[in-house]
Parts: sequence; C-alpha cells; structure tokens
Amino acid sequence: MSNILIIGAGGVGRVVVHKCVENRDTFKKITLASRRLESCKALQNEVGVENIDIAQVDADNVPELVELIKKIQPDMVLNIALPYQDLTIMEACLQTGVHYLDTANYEHPDTAKFEYKEQWAFDEKYKNKGIMALLGSGFDPGVTNVFCAYADQYLFDEIHTIDILDCNGGDHGYPFATNFNPEINLREVSSKGRYWENGEWIETDPMEIKMEWDYPEVGVKDSYLLYHEEMESLVKHIKGLKRIRFFMTFGESYLTHMKCLENVGMLRIDEVEVDGQKIVPIKLLKELLPDPASLGPRTVGKTNIGCVIDGIKDGKPKKVYIYNVCDHQKCYKETGAQAVSYTTGVPAMIGAKLICKGTWKESGVYNMEQFDAKPFMDELMVSGLPWVIKEIEI
Ligand code: NDP
Repeated sequence: MSNILIIGAGGVGRVVVHKCVENRDTFKKITLASRRLESCKALQNEVGVENIDIAQVDADNVPELVELIKKIQPDMVLNIALPYQDLTIMEACLQTGVHYLDTANYEHPDTAKFEYKEQWAFDEKYKNKGIMALLGSGFDPGVTNVFCAYADQYLFDEIHTIDILDCNGGDHGYPFATNFNPEINLREVSSKGRYWENGEWIETDPMEIKMEWDYPEVGVKDSYLLYHEEMESLVKHIKGLKRIRFFMTFGESYLTHMKCLENVGMLRIDEVEVDGQKIVPIKLLKELLPDPASLGPRTVGKTNIGCVIDGIKDGKPKKVYIYNVCDHQKCYKETGAQAVSYTTGVPAMIGAKLICKGTWKESGVYNMEQFDAKPFMDELMVSGLPWVIKEIEI
C-alpha cells in the first residue's frame, strides 16, 4: 500500500528498517537514506537487497532532500536521523507534500536546549498543504505520551499527576558508554532539570532531585529528575494536570564519568582550537566512545519505561502504573540492536503504520497524545512492546 522513505541508518534506524520489512503488507516500498551510503548498505545486506532500496542524502540540505523525495515519491518520510535535522526534513516534506514523522524534538546544534516551538510553527502550513507531521514517535517521547493519552481517554475522569519513569537496567560491560547517540544523550542528561507544577516550570540543578523506585523485573534503582521533551506537549494536552515530572535511572559509574568529563570540559559544545584545528569537545568524545549500535551483542538486562498516573475515576481517587519491560538480548536476537534502539524504533514503525493506514489521519503538526491511543496500544502488544497496567493502592 505505502511507499516510505526512512532517513537515518543508525541504531534506531536499524530497528525501524527491520520492523517495517516485517510489516510489508503496509509498507510496500521502503527506501533507506543516510549521510553515508555504506551505513545503508550494511542494513540492506541485513534485511535483504530485495526488501529495501538505498540512497545517500545530506539531511541538513533542503534542496537535496527535496530532490530525493521527488525521485522516490514516498507517501511519508520517517526522520530517524538526529534532532538537528528535524526542521530541514519537515521543510522538505512541506515543499513536496509528504507526511512526516520523527522520534525526537528539534535541537539547535549550538544550544543544548530542545523545544517544540519551531516544529509547531509548521502547523498552519501543513494544514494548508493537507499533510500531517507526527512528532516524537519513539518511546519517550512517544509511547509515554500514548500511555498518558490512554489513561486520559479510557482510565480516568481527571488526571492530576504524572511521573514518567525511565529505567535502563542493562549492562554493556564498558565503564562508560551511552545507549543512543552520545552527543544527544550527554547534552540531555548534563542539562538542568525541570518539572511542571501548578502551571509553572520549576528548574533544578542537574541530578539535584533523586528518588528510589522499584522497577518491575529490574529492581530498585536510583532515579534522577530530568527535563524531558514530552512534558512540554503533555502539559498542553492533558487537561486538569497539576504536576508532571520525568525520572531516569543512572548508575554510579555513569554519573562519576559524566561529572568528570564535564569538569574537564569534554561536554562543551563550542569550538576550541587544538594545533590550529577547530574541535568541538563533545563531538571528539562521541568518536572516542563505543558506538551505541555496537552495544547490542554485549548488553544484558532489561529496560522498564512507564508512567505512574493519579487522578479521579467515578468520584474516587485512582492511581495506575503503565509500563513496558524490554529485554536487551531478546531485542538483539530479533533485530541486532539493544533495547534502547528497539524501544524507539518499534513505535516509529507503529506511528508510520497508523498514518499509512489512515487510522491516525489529520492535517497539521501533532503530538502523539492528540490521537485515540487505543490503536497504538493494540499495535504495541503485537509488535514486541507489550505493556502492563497495574493499579496502585492509595
Ligand atoms: P545514531 O547516531 O546511531 O544514528 C543517527 C543516524 O543519522 C546515522 O545513521 C547518521 O548517518 C544519520 N545522520 C546524521 N546526520 C545526518 C545527515 N545530516 N543526513 C543524513 N543522515 C544523517 O542515533 P540513534 O539511532 O541512536 O538515534 C536516532 C534518533 O532517535 C535521534 O534523533 C535520537 O535522539 C532519537 N531517539 C529517540 C528516543 C525516544 O525514545 N524518543 C530514544 C533514543 C533515541 P550515517 O550513519 O550515514 O553517518
């Protein structure tokens, strides 16, 4: 039925390609494009030359993207490159009249800050063109937004508080490595924390707020409050919300390494001159760290990501925990990628499937929680990311 163009052949791209090939009844023609053709070739060899076409593209360059889209004529583009490319790919989709999907909020390369403002600004133009952009169709953002929407639409009359809890209980055996793009990951976790309460954003120092949480199938872990992008859209779309926070687990070794790297300036995103050459320290660090795509074979353990939501149902207080547990080695055996790439890539495929089938169909720019959550929840169950809903006693 549908012809899709996937841009980005990294860790998450690998899972998206595997899952889209698995869903050939929806995705009749698949093209994978990336900055380096050899990244695409490697993936093409994995899934079979007969299953995907490949192309080279610089996704920072709008005319190049437009030329490729005109040549392939896809129904939609899945942006699985980096957040820096969100605006150029959105612009190219607008110029060619093609639907758009991504998994991460736009981030300017020179400022470690992400917000939806510039992507939401495309809304009117996408509406006029009759095309749709689905923002943040990964796990968090993505599935976490869908869990909140499901609770809002099916489980509660009013939602008061949401805690999003992201635990990676996996062990890759390295003293320090990141589970997705190191540059994006380290920029995110070294930034100030922020949460939303009673209509206001409250800022914290990085890692200032810590709590312990017992993650089913993983165990008790230290969890630190971070700012995370899905909160920006959820405070807008979940009516009556009083507080939303986001917590992520980090081990001692990760935090000690990160602090040390920060202290010596290795997380800097501005240029420094070394022997007449301009170098951005965090980009050098990215080259030195293990490639997240290579962690698959050696990562053992599980991820558990979910939302604890409380509010009112039928006049009574109610609290639920909706979560998914994902096993690194199981993901690796299925797709060659560890669970962090897997939990992002599967929802990207599902978002694309719902758009291609017309189940989620609007013109304009949308976040995940703005649609009926049920079809997405159903797809998660059969696509490798089953979820659990636990009632918590109050
Ligand atoms: P990787 O660094 O492994 O892969 C990124 C890919 O993008 C690479 O294949 C790279 O190309 C390609 N790329 C980079 N720049 C360009 C460009 N200018 N033009 C074309 N291709 C380009 O990252 P991940 O796979 O780990 O992450 C992919 C995305 O998923 C990121 O945006 C990340 O933030 C997001 N993510 C979202 C999560 C969620 O839950 N929502 C969780 C984890 C990640 P090449 O190999 O050809 O050089």
